[in-house]
Amino acid sequence: LEKTYAMIKPDAVAAGKVDDILKIAEDAGFVVVRRQEQRMDAVRAGEFYAEHKGKPFYANLVGFMSSGPIVACCLAKHNAIKDWRALMGPTNTFTAREDAPKSLRAKFGTDGTRNATHGSDSPASAMRELKFFFPNLRLD
Ligand code: ATP
Ligand code: MG
Repeated sequence: LEKTYAMIKPDAVAAGKVDDILKIAEDAGFVVVRRQEQRMDAVRAGEFYAEHKGKPFYANLVGFMSSGPIVACCLAKHNAIKDWRALMGPTNTFTAREDAPKSLRAKFGTDGTRNATHGSDSPASAMRELKFFFPNLRLD
């Protein structure tokens, strides 16, 4: 089964939505291989989102991601990477509510930056991100 890195962001953790989100994931066929609540400081959040350094929303993004606990997850499923991105819906919460009202971001997101969940966007990203959060996880 393919593995992806999924993260429940501080807005959804603070709102108490972790179990609701993981129940939807399991009902959609994902196996929750790992689930770990932790905090990222600004340095670690900046490193995780390094590809966005220099963009206008970067400082807000890093501030948000280090504002409270996140839940780091490894999810497994056939086509996990693409299917988790589809389940999350569009990046912007308001776009998600318009275009994909059943998606996780439509249901649990807050605004353009605070959008409830993250998912790896490619096999290379999944490898990097799973190692970043779960250095001891076997990925073969
Ligand atoms: P993620 O990487 O968190 O799964 P994504 O792949 O859908 O989201 P990216 O383009 O990688 O979107 O952006 C990373 C994160 O940065 C988004 O999830 C969102 O929190 C924030 N972000 C992206 N674009 C914007 C924007 N235009 N305005 C504000 N915040 C943004
Ligand atoms: Mg992304």
